[in-house]
Amino acid sequence: MTLPIRPAVLASPDYPFNPIDAPVKLDQNESPQDFPADLKQLVLDELLNAQWHRYPDLHSDGLCAAIGAHEDWQADGIVVTTGSNVLIPLLTQLSGLGRRLLTVKPAFALYALGARLLDVELTEVALQADFSLDVAALTAELGRGAEPGVLFLSQPHAPTGNCAAAEDIAALVEAAPGWLVVIDEAYFHFAGRDFRAFARTRPNVVLLRTMSKAWGLAGLRLGYLLTSREVAANLKKLVPPFTTSVLQTVAARVALAHPDYMVERVQRTVRERERVFAALARHPSWITYPSQANFLLIRTPDAKAAHEHLLRHGVLLRRQDGLEGLEGCIRVTIGTPEENDLFLAAALVPVVPAEAGT
Ligand SMILES: *Cc1c(COP(=O)(O)O)cnc(C)c1O
Repeated sequence: MTLPIRPAVLASPDYPFNPIDAPVKLDQNESPQDFPADLKQLVLDELLNAQWHRYPDLHSDGLCAAIGAHEDWQADGIVVTTGSNVLIPLLTQLSGLGRRLLTVKPAFALYALGARLLDVELTEVALQADFSLDVAALTAELGRGAEPGVLFLSQPHAPTGNCAAAEDIAALVEAAPGWLVVIDEAYFHFAGRDFRAFARTRPNVVLLRTMSKAWGLAGLRLGYLLTSREVAANLKKLVPPFTTSVLQTVAARVALAHPDYMVERVQRTVRERERVFAALARHPSWITYPSQANFLLIRTPDAKAAHEHLLRHGVLLRRQDGLEGLEGCIRVTIGTPEENDLFLAAALVPVVPAEAGT
């Protein structure tokens, strides 16, 4: 019997993730520290008094106001969902379905995956050798054909960690008047740069944000975007009603009311990133790329061997060598100073024959 499932879904691979247990977990770009215990207690106190039998706000209006105050953004230009992962296919439905999705490669897997699952025409323009944007090729793609669509970029870029020149982003937005331009800013805290000032005057630009990384709330599932009133109002038609629970809403509001812990952790992560980067320069065969995010991309002679070697030392990181242009690459999340020391000790251990060194 033929399954009653669209061919595009049948043909699609699963999301590329393989859970492995290890003492030092540096594979998912999470915050290495849990949400502060005193803030957890505040969340629990509020939850005890919340009404669990009532539906939450239709579109988390109360939370949008808190986000607006924190981000200096109009509340009616904010859309909240259970993780920015959820917003990516919704944005593709909003502006790409039946049209086009343009992005770069290598990139965050979900942009292309969403296009394939929705049968949206997908174009992936390769980054240049130094991971900068190929503005000429992207501009040509933006102008090709009659139908526009949605352009997905990330800044800092994942999984390379670099930032594009702001002029390059501006040139692409100028070249794409009919397109929805999504800038995924999952890691902007670690770069000290964002595109709010730029997006404020451009109604077709969307800034995607998450509480999974800098805020240390990956387990809670909360993401949102900043855009124009018009784009937000239309996107809300595609967001399932009452989708964000009281648990997520309360936790996010408590976090936003206490941003100091997040700012401090970001500063420490940035310091640690530079320390780990400098230490890795001593590695005899690895090339580490400069990063503006909370992770480092490393090119090794053999990603599988590097991954296994580190796992034997209790350190889990993520292979990236399956992505075009990232042959031999692994990606390591910046952890606590202790975790980073364990990673460096394992990474820099000289490869000696088993019988030597006694
Ligand atoms: C981690 C990450 C996100 C965040 O996804 P959530 O669903 O909010 O956890 C979004 N984009 C990129 C590029 C990421 O790396």
